[in-house]
Amino acid sequence: MKRRKIAAGNWKMNKTFSEGRALASAIAEGMEPSENLVILGVPAIHLKAVANTAKKVKGLEVAAQNCHQAESGAYTGEISVDMIKSVGAKYVIIGHSERREYFNESHELLAQKVDATLSKRLIPIFCCGEPLSIREEGTHVAHVKKQLEESLFHLKTKPFEKIVIAYEPIWAIGTGVTASPAQAQDMHKAIRQLIADRYSERVADETSILYGGSVKPANAKELFSQPDVDGGLVGGASLKADDFLKIIGSF
Ligand code: PEP
Repeated sequence: MKRRKIAAGNWKMNKTFSEGRALASAIAEGMEPSENLVILGVPAIHLKAVANTAKKVKGLEVAAQNCHQAESGAYTGEISVDMIKSVGAKYVIIGHSERREYFNESHELLAQKVDATLSKRLIPIFCCGEPLSIREEGTHVAHVKKQLEESLFHLKTKPFEKIVIAYEPIWAIGTGVTASPAQAQDMHKAIRQLIADRYSERVADETSILYGGSVKPANAKELFSQPDVDGGLVGGASLKADDFLKIIGSF
């Protein structure tokens, strides 16, 4: 996907069906026309209704928060990429730290989910990021490098070009502690360099890299103005239309 400014929300396991419809409508109605992309990452139960709302608004899209790697079959409780696609969602969040930690999603499994998503022409929003202990050790770039190498860098250039990356330091997710703009910029620059080394400068230049971790209306503008930060993946602040609209308006 060509590099774009993107504000993506991650509702996680929040909002009943009616609450989700109301939130999606409030965001859709409050959005100003722009070239930027807004993606709502919603629980599976909301996908179809939110996709119906989104299709009426230019620049508004929907993401699933996870998918199964198999095409179909006896996997009770799971959701396939075809199912996600069939309701009009075009994106899938893959490798969120909560999936890695609470559901033991390995590098190898995430590579399979990336492949499954791309095979149906949906776009993975691939999350990476280090825990606090790794940040304190100073090995955060190597940690993220391994995540990219093990789950993304098997891709040939063309499929890789579809990927959106979200750098989310785990110590900043849901904690209220945001990476400083300089910390975010340094890591995004390092990620772009890793992509340049594996693919090319052009591919690195065209990849959208989002920052996630306690993005709020008060800090979005400064984070998003960093040269290698193309937007955000937003958890808590995407649950309130006013806050999320302010973040969307921060570019
Ligand atoms: C997230 O869930 O991806 C996230 C960044 O959450 P929060 O914005 O609440 O830190």
